[in-house]
Formats: sequence, C-alpha cells, structure tokens
Amino acid sequence: MPTFKVAIVGAGPAGYFTAQALQNSQSDELTFQIDMIERLPTPWGLVRSGVAPDHPKIKTVAKVFEKIAKEPNFRLFANVEVGKDVSIKELREKYDAVVLSTGSTIGKKLGIKGEELTNSLSAAQFVPWYNAHPDYTGVEVDLSSDTAVVIGAGNVAMDVARMLALDPAELDPTDTATHALAELHKSKIRNVIICGRRGPEHASFTSPELRDLPKLEHTDVYIDLNEIEKAQVRVEATGEVEKELRNNLEAMRLIAENEKKGVARRLEIKFLTTPLEIKGSGKVEEIVFGINQVEADDKITSTGKTFSIKCGLVITAIGYEVGEFSGVPVENGRITNIGGKVEHNLYVVGWAKRGPNGVIGTNKSDASDVVDLLISELKEPKESNGISDLLKSGHEVIDQVGWEKINASEILSGEPHGKPRIKEVDWKLLISLGRA
Ligand SMILES: Cc1cc2nc3c(=O)[nH]c(=O)nc-3n(C[C@H](O)[C@H](O)[C@H](O)COP(=O)(O)OP(=O)(O)OC[C@H]3O[C@@H](n4cnc5c(N)ncnc54)[C@H](O)[C@@H]3O)c2cc1C
Repeated sequence: MPTFKVAIVGAGPAGYFTAQALQNSQSDELTFQIDMIERLPTPWGLVRSGVAPDHPKIKTVAKVFEKIAKEPNFRLFANVEVGKDVSIKELREKYDAVVLSTGSTIGKKLGIKGEELTNSLSAAQFVPWYNAHPDYTGVEVDLSSDTAVVIGAGNVAMDVARMLALDPAELDPTDTATHALAELHKSKIRNVIICGRRGPEHASFTSPELRDLPKLEHTDVYIDLNEIEKAQVRVEATGEVEKELRNNLEAMRLIAENEKKGVARRLEIKFLTTPLEIKGSGKVEEIVFGINQVEADDKITSTGKTFSIKCGLVITAIGYEVGEFSGVPVENGRITNIGGKVEHNLYVVGWAKRGPNGVIGTNKSDASDVVDLLISELKEPKESNGISDLLKSGHEVIDQVGWEKINASEILSGEPHGKPRIKEVDWKLLISLGRA
C-alpha cells in the first residue's frame, strides 16, 4: 500500500482542511503522511490572529483542527518558516506533494498622500496587534483622539470599527491581547466612521455581522436611511435581487431605523466616499474624501464634491495580498495557479490561492477540490524522511505535543480572569512554554 508524503505549509484553516481532505481520501490502496509546517510557534492562522475576540463562537472551529491533528498520520512542525528555515525547492524534493496554505498578510495600500503619517495604519497591523500575534506587539496605536476613520466596506473593516467603538469592558472576558486591552481601556475614541467607496449594494459586509451591530449595548450605530432606500430602488430596477444582497440591505435598513440609545459611543457607516488625502503635521489630523455616485450602469463616478473628517486615527481595511515567496510566481496579490496547481508537485489553497475572500468554511470545499487534483497527479511515492532531513541540527520545532502545552498554559492563565485564554505574545516565551 503506497504512502505518499505531503507537506502543508501554513497551519491556518486552509492547511487543516487540506489535511482533512487527505485523511478522508485514504483507502486500502492509498495512505498519506502529512507534515504541517508553520512559521509561528502556534497554529490556527487567522482563527487565532484574525477573527475578532468578541466573536468567540467562530473560533470553536479550532476543535475541528485539533481533531485533524490527532490523527496518527499528522505531524505539526511549528516554529519553522518556509523560505527561511527550509526552502520550497527542498520540500518539493523530499515530499510527493507540497501544498502552500500561507494565507495573505500584506495589507493593500490606498496609495494616497499622507498614508505614511503616524497613526495611519493598516488592518494588517491593527488586527494582529489586538489579537496578540507575536510579530505585532510593537505596533504603535494612539487612541487619544475622539474620532477614528476606517476605510473599507467588508467584515474586516467592521471588526476593526467594532473593536474601536465597543465599551472595552465588553472585551474583558475575551482573549484580546493584554497590551491592546490596556490601551483600549484608556481610549478616548467615541466616534468611529467606516467609509466605503461604493454604494450599500456593493458592500461586502455579510448580514449576520450587520445584524449584530444594533445589539451593541454601549454603542449607537448609524447608517443614512436615505442611502439604503436609494440603493434598494437601484437594485430592484435591475430585476431579480439575490437573497444575500436583499438580506444585507434589509440588515442595513434595520440599523438605520433602529432606535438610538443616546450613548456616547458612535459607529457610523458611510457609503460612496473615496479617500483623497490624509492631512496632518507628522500625525493624522484629518482625512479628505471625494463624494461618489452610482450611475445607471452601476459604475461609480465622482460627483466632484469633497468633504473632510477631523480624526486622529485612520485604519485601512481594503484587502490583503501575499508577500514575496522566493521561487513562487505571484500575480494580482495571489500565488499564480490554475485550479490550485502552481507547478509540478506544488499546489496552493486558501487565501494564498483565491485572495482574501470567503469565510472560514469556504476554505474547506476549496481545499477538497485541490486535494482531488493532487491525488490524480500522484505517481510513485518518494523515499525520504521529509522535513527531518532538512532542518539544521538544534532547530527547535514545536510539535503537536509542544503546541498542546502552550494551549493548556494559555487556557489556564485565562481561567481566573474569566477569559477563554490569555495569549502569550513573546516568541521566546511561547517556545519555552512548548518545551516545558
Ligand atoms: C481580520 C479578519 C477577521 C476574520 N474574521 C472571520 C470570521 O469572523 N469568520 C470567518 O468565517 N472568517 C473570518 N475571516 C476569514 C478567515 O480568517 C480566512 O478565510 C482564513 O483564515 C484563510 O485561511 P488560510 O489558511 O488561507 O490563511 P491564514 O489563516 O492566514 O493561515 C496562513 C498560515 O500560514 C502561516 N505562514 C505564512 N507564511 C508561512 C511560511 N513562510 N512558512 C510557514 N508558515 C507560514 C501563517 O503564520 C498562518 O498561520 C477573517 C479574516 C480576517 C483577516
């Protein structure tokens, strides 16, 4: 019975769903040895460092990941960075197939004047800062002004805005990074404005997230009802309206019509606004927008009018792209691929393949399709010890047992504080917890 060796690079949802699809494809004629390689000392990708701390239910998918990791044909090699500790070329020589599931972590830029000012940040910095990613503890976030502007009209923009607009006491029972929670408690921000370039009908917020907004206890949420009604007229005029879009517009209407509590914290969603320039002497003080309109053919054009918002913080959440990966072709922010195939015995799944779209579950069907292709292209299994032959002697790997020690330690630290866990942020301490 042939056993094929597969290396999965990146321990996020796409990586785990790839392992699961391989496990589910095993038969009397075909088995797999799966080695998952992760640069951080901790797995779970954006489930740990992206998903908002006030949405703990979403993170329960990690139980599925841990079940996959318990299978006897699965090994975790965390604290191993592909491109630094081992190369893709070396992995391709040792494994029958290599699957890249490295996500996309570089925040897209606006490309406008003033973007480099202090306190003009990307969600790609701000999110891992509040989620205790060990590379982002040093991000300087100044929350001393009363107004923050978030650019973008997707769920990441909404997460960022909610984190800024919530009463921080609501975050006390969550796994928000300790350093971020301390700053959020001191925050003077009371007014958070999300600005999207296109109309309400084009926004990529999803309706469950929109429907959660009026439930915020200490924050009033505003959307201009007039804008939603105009969008509803526009979409009805096009004929059949998709259920998802109808639900989204309905959720926005509910927000617009919802009775306000009269509290000090405000979150507002504005549409049809293009950021033109961020102003300030050294630090963000104001952002200038152009006002857009939706033409009959659904095109967005400028009205030529502008307005500006005085603010001390701008966070851009307009998407992510993959970084440079030596030897791997990258195009339009994704690893170049056809149906997940990059080159001979090299595949890609998840955000690195598709770009930053879809929910966690989207990565499951995507990984399953790529695994079908991978299996169809397998020939003779290679004889090798896999990654063990490649790492320098003394390289400290965090394996599944080591990760379980880190996990248990974090959960234990959270218990007396009523938190699901307190995440360790120091890279060296994480490694020593895994060693203990
Ligand atoms: C802020 C934010 C909030 C989100 N919230 C939700 C939500 O509430 N619900 C939902 O369904 N979806 C949410 N998503 C989307 C979801 O997180 C993604 O669909 C999913 O994480 C993509 O999985 P992935 O495995 O492709 O990438 P990732 O989750 O990014 O995993 C990639 C992994 O690869 C590792 N890696 C990178 N480079 C290397 C290397 N060179 N060597 C080894 N390892 C490497 C990374 O450290 C990481 O662990 C959110 C996304 C973001 C950004």
